[in-house]
Amino acid sequence: SLGPAWAMDWMERARAAVSANRIELLDLDRAIGDGDHGENMDRGFTAVAAKLTTLAPQSAAEVLKTAATTLMSTVGGAAGPLYGTAFLRASKAGDGALGNTVDAAGVASLLEAAVEGIQARGKAEQGEKTMVDAWLPAAQAARAAADEGRGPVEALRAAADAAAQGAVDTEPLIATKGRASYLGRRSVGHRDPGAQSSSLLLLAAAEAAE
Ligand code: ADP
Ligand code: MG
Ligand code: MG
Repeated sequence: SLGPAWAMDWMERARAAVSANRIELLDLDRAIGDGDHGENMDRGFTAVAAKLTTLAPQSAAEVLKTAATTLMSTVGGAAGPLYGTAFLRASKAGDGALGNTVDAAGVASLLEAAVEGIQARGKAEQGEKTMVDAWLPAAQAARAAADEGRGPVEALRAAADAAAQGAVDTEPLIATKGRASYLGRRSVGHRDPGAQSSSLLLLAAAEAAE
């Protein structure tokens, strides 16, 4: 099972992935938003990585909680509170059942808690061309993997694959939440930046576990 070292590595890989894909995220947000998503995410995860250098965590939950509070105060825009809530809920997943380590069911609970937080905050349903379209299939894939008796690494890999597909699948959608909704039908044909950054974060989680 996965412990605090995994969560620390996840956040470091997330920082690196967001930094490496900063321009792509900026371009996606320039097409259907205000062109700042790459900057917002890079600033946020750089701050998370800096904050975590001062932490000697006893649990994955502790790492995710620190990430949450840091993201809330540094990312800004729509994505800041959404990711902040996602990681905060994730840190409390299963009513503390995460404990020191996370098994496959814990991975599923963590992702379900994250998407519940995003939806509680942003009120988006699946198919509205938001980050929900990456997180929801990811949580479902992790739960299916756990129910099939697979391990946490496989659950995370299934989640990352589902999130990547979910991000691609936002391309034909009409945005009905967030800034992209101002474009209406003109949002069609573009990938949602928040779904893409979510896919990067979940891939980072899987790679940290492998
Ligand atoms: P802003 O739009 O305020 O500049 P960002 O560019 O950082 O913020 O983030 C935009 C992303 O936030 C979108 O691509 C979308 O995935 C996500 N988003 C916006 N509104 C919502 C919402 N209500 N629910 C879920 N996700 C949302
Ligand atoms: Mg933006
Ligand atoms: Mg903005």
